[in-house]
Amino acid sequence: MRFCLNMGESDTCEVKRIKIGKKIYNRVDDYFDVNERCHDCGILNKKGNIHHMGCDMEMCPKCGKQLLICQMFGDCDFKDFVD
Ligand SMILES: [Zn+2]
Ligand SMILES: [Zn+2]
Ligand SMILES: [Zn+2]
Repeated sequence: MRFCLNMGESDTCEVKRIKIGKKIYNRVDDYFDVNERCHDCGILNKKGNIHHMGCDMEMCPKCGKQLLICQMFGDCDFKDFVD
């Protein structure tokens, strides 16, 4: 489990990709809550922006479920975020 130090500090996360199993995926950049900024990590909710690591709004690019849940139960063989 990795959390981003920039939580609440910037409009998008700089870390763009995730390794799941043997594959590298782009992190989901078009799923947001209804607020102007994310209630959890504080990014600006706009297509192209990525939630900070550890945010409960981030979706898993492989299965489409909440990434936190996916990491906790190891459903998709989550490995790490990739800078
Ligand atoms: Zn971040
Ligand atoms: Zn967020
Ligand atoms: Zn998943």
